Amino acid sequence: MKLYNTASREVETFKPIHNKTVTLYTCGPTVYDETHIGHMRKYTMDDILKRTLKYVGYEVEHVMNITDVGHLSGDDDSGEDKLEKGAKKSGKTVWDVAKYYTDKFFETMDALNIIRPDKVVKATDHIKQMIDLVKRLEAKHLTYATDEAIYFDITKFPSYGSLSGQKLEEKKQAARGEIHIDPNKKHPADFALWFKRVGRFKDHSMHWDSPWEDGFPGWHIECSAMSMAYLGETIDIHTGGIDHIPVHHENEIAQSEAATGNKFVRFWVHHAFLNVDGEKMSKSKGNYYTLEDLKKHNIDPLAIRYLFLQTHYRQEMNFTWEAAEAAQETLEKIKNIVLDLRLSKITSPQNQSPNVNLFNDFKLQFSKSLSQDLNTSEALAVMWNMLKSKLSSSKKMELLYDFDEVFGLALKDIKKGKIPKELIELANQRIEARKAKNFKKSDELRKQIEEKGYIVEDTDGGYRIKKK
Ligand SMILES: [Zn+2]
Repeated sequence: MKLYNTASREVETFKPIHNKTVTLYTCGPTVYDETHIGHMRKYTMDDILKRTLKYVGYEVEHVMNITDVGHLSGDDDSGEDKLEKGAKKSGKTVWDVAKYYTDKFFETMDALNIIRPDKVVKATDHIKQMIDLVKRLEAKHLTYATDEAIYFDITKFPSYGSLSGQKLEEKKQAARGEIHIDPNKKHPADFALWFKRVGRFKDHSMHWDSPWEDGFPGWHIECSAMSMAYLGETIDIHTGGIDHIPVHHENEIAQSEAATGNKFVRFWVHHAFLNVDGEKMSKSKGNYYTLEDLKKHNIDPLAIRYLFLQTHYRQEMNFTWEAAEAAQETLEKIKNIVLDLRLSKITSPQNQSPNVNLFNDFKLQFSKSLSQDLNTSEALAVMWNMLKSKLSSSKKMELLYDFDEVFGLALKDIKKGKIPKELIELANQRIEARKAKNFKKSDELRKQIEEKGYIVEDTDGGYRIKKK
């Protein structure tokens, strides 16, 4: 299996540290707002990664966090806590806001047929682990305190910035002057591990006791603490959006590796952005689409899943409703193919002997495409070629279901239009008549079937019936 690793900027051969089990950590949502189509793409592609790892024979231990505290509106510790802001806006408590948007998030994930992580962990349930990690850093003299917060001193972690390739000097210049920055911060890129409940945070409603006064954790420490708690000090794969690279993930690396002395993440996998109609998504532009919007446009979320599969995860994607509608049509087409194949499988007792080589070839091509840094569009092309091939219906069906283990279009769940028994009987009689070369009788039977609203078609060695 080959995967692009942001850390090396190369496609590398991936193998887990522990034999057959891959440890996978995903930066989950900050639950203060709607889950939009950009999130849908990111988590679908995470799901494709996980399903591919399973398809090629690995076990996957997947942990995802829910950020329900500490994520400020600016990644550089500026601004307000997103949850507190959301609560103020809606007049609800922060806990209610977190619960509401967590539920909405999973409703969207379920609609997209995304397999839930083995563990979904909330930041507010892991304050102790975060405090312990900050204490470890403190014991190594890697932190300092100001009136406002406990900071990680990045100058004590010499490789800081290696993931994004940004020099510390550039970081200094990138810090904006107009936003609130703690004047006692030594370096603009030093980041808060723990915020004290003072100043702009004096009314913060989520707060805990700590060795550094009452307060709340910073966003970055959450992922390190929870990832270590469930997956160990070194994990195989960590995923996130490309926007996480320069700050959040640099900080995760710095505090984790400084605390443990071990490599934190072996493979960094980052997803590219999604634009809408060629523009960046934003609420003010009204191009911030959610599950509700898909429903309004009569688009099945699984059609959106198909749409995502057409673009490589490291490529920026442009979403349009035309593209969504086209994907919807394609999904309908696949569903009909499934129904057709299923029927011919049930009703064709004499399918030709399967072409074993062809079958294995397609399976190999499929697995190869995905193993090449998740080339999903090529894997889709393999599926369409397979469906056009001369494989028997039952083998096509078998491969289609097999490929769907990764595509996740829920093809096994497609409801079949039930064919009444009586019609299957007529169709069987017709086949007997044809075998006996009694074409008059066979034609009569065909007419009877048609009068009942069905069509019978001959296939290689059998037949299929479907609704007119
Ligand atoms: Zn994270």
